[in-house]
Amino acid sequence: MTEAHPLRLFNSLTRQLEAFQPIHPGEARVYTCGPTVYNYPHIGNMRAYVFADVLGRTLSYLGYKLTHVINITDVGHLTDDADAGEDKMEKMAASEARSIWDIAEHYKQAYWADVRALNIREPAQWTVATDYVPQMIEFARQIAPRHCYELDSGLYFDVSTVPDYGRLARAVTEDGVSRIDPVPGKRNAADFAIWRKTPPGEKRQMEWDSPWGRGAPGWHLECSVMSGAVLGFPFDIHTGGIDHREIHHPCEIAQNQAHACSADPGANIWMHNNFLVERSGKMSKSSGEFLRLQLLIDKGYHPLAYRMLCLQAHYRSELEFSWEGLGAALTRLKRLVMAVEKARGPDAKRQRYEALELSANRSWFETAIAGDLNTPEALAALEDVLSSIQTNECKLAVVESYDSVLGLNLLNLTRADLRIRPKDAQITEAEIEAALAARKEARAAKDFARSDALRDELAARGVEVMDGDPLGWEWKLG
Ligand code: AMP
Ligand code: ZN
Repeated sequence: MTEAHPLRLFNSLTRQLEAFQPIHPGEARVYTCGPTVYNYPHIGNMRAYVFADVLGRTLSYLGYKLTHVINITDVGHLTDDADAGEDKMEKMAASEARSIWDIAEHYKQAYWADVRALNIREPAQWTVATDYVPQMIEFARQIAPRHCYELDSGLYFDVSTVPDYGRLARAVTEDGVSRIDPVPGKRNAADFAIWRKTPPGEKRQMEWDSPWGRGAPGWHLECSVMSGAVLGFPFDIHTGGIDHREIHHPCEIAQNQAHACSADPGANIWMHNNFLVERSGKMSKSSGEFLRLQLLIDKGYHPLAYRMLCLQAHYRSELEFSWEGLGAALTRLKRLVMAVEKARGPDAKRQRYEALELSANRSWFETAIAGDLNTPEALAALEDVLSSIQTNECKLAVVESYDSVLGLNLLNLTRADLRIRPKDAQITEAEIEAALAARKEARAAKDFARSDALRDELAARGVEVMDGDPLGWEWKLG
C-alpha cells in the first residue's frame, strides 16, 4: 500500500470521495453484480466489468490482497428490475424453445469469451445463483419473521422494517417507486419479493421447495446471499452499474441490514459505473443487430480498442459510443503498441538524470489511479513516459507496471493484431499477404508496372494498400 498515494473512492452511499480503509488489514474484498445470462451482454454491460476490473487491478497494484467475486445470475431476474414482469431466463427459454440450463450455459460462455477478449482478470470466484438456493432459503427464513410477509404471489420484504430504505437511491419515493408495479396486498410500494411462488397450476423450469411453497428466489436476495457467503459481512466494496443504485442495491442493503439486525449495509463502499450510451438504440438487446463485442470484432476492431474507449473516460461519466470514437481509441492503442515495439531495442547507453523524471511520472500515475480510478489521467502519464524517457529498459518496466492496472496487454499486442479486418471481407489475409509479398518483390526489381497492377488488383477486392502509413498499417479493408 503506497502511503504517498492513499486510495480514495467515490462512495455512492455518501455521494463523496472516501479514503479506502480495508476491513481486514492489507486485504480488499470486492463483490460485483454480474450478468443475467439470458442473452449476450451488450458492450454497455461490459463497461461495468471493465470498471470492476480496473478497480481490482488498482487494489492489487497498491498492494492489497484482493478477493473479487462476480456472480452469474441464472434465475430470478425479472424483465423489470423493480419486481414485475417475467423471469428473463424463463422468457428467453420459451422463445428459443430450449431449456433454461442450456440458455444459461450458452450465454455464460459467451460472457466469459467477452471477459477474456477484454483482458478482464478472472475473479477469485464466479458464484452461480442456482448453486446457492439452499443458502438463499436459509437467509430468507432468518429474516422472514421480523421483516417479511407472505402474499399469494410470494414472500415480500417490508421496507419499512429497516431504518433508511433507499438511502442509496435518494429518490425512492419519486422515480423508483413509480416504476414498481402495484401488487395487491403489498404494504409499501417499494416492498419486493424475496421468494416468488410458482402460481398454482403452473410449472416453472427452475423451481425449488421452500417454507413458502415451490418457487424461485428473488434476484436481490441472490446477491445478498452470495456476497455474504463468500466474502463475509461486512466486506469492503460492492460494485455495479448506476441503474443498480436505484433498486437492486437498496434492496440488497435492506436485506443485509435485516440479516445483521443493524443499520450496517453489508459493504462499506458502494461504487457504480455510469452508462455507455448510444443514440440510435443499438444498445437494446431487442434490436436486431445490437452492440455486442463480437459485432465490433466482426467489423474489424480489436476488442481492446473498446477497453481503451472505456479507459479514456472516467467510470462515473456517461460515455457515448460511436464508431468514430472507437476508431480513434484503436489508433491510440496502436500508437502505444508501436512505442512499446520501438522500446524493445537495446539501450546504447543508460541515460542519466532519468530517475527523477521517472519518479515524478510514477507519482502522476499513482495520484491518478488512487484518485477514484482516474484512468484518462493514468493513460496520459503512460504516454508521457513513453515519449519523455529515453532508456528502453526503463520504458518497458514502466509499461509493465502501469499496464497491470490498465490491462491493455501492451507487452503482448502487436501492430498486426490491431489491423482492421472485417469478417465480411471478400479476400483472406493469406491472399493479401501473398499479393503484398509479390508486390514487394516487383518493387525491389523496379518492376513498377507489375507493382501498380498488384495494387490495383487488391483495390478491386477492397484492400487499400497503405504505403508509408505513420502507424505502420500496411493495408486496410474497406
Ligand atoms: P444485467 O446483465 O442486465 O444485470 O447487467 C449487467 C451490468 O451492466 C449491470 O451492472 C448493469 O448495471 C450494467 N449496465 C447495463 N447497461 C449498461 C450500460 N448501458 N452502460 C454501462 N453499464 C450498464
Ligand atoms: Zn446484484
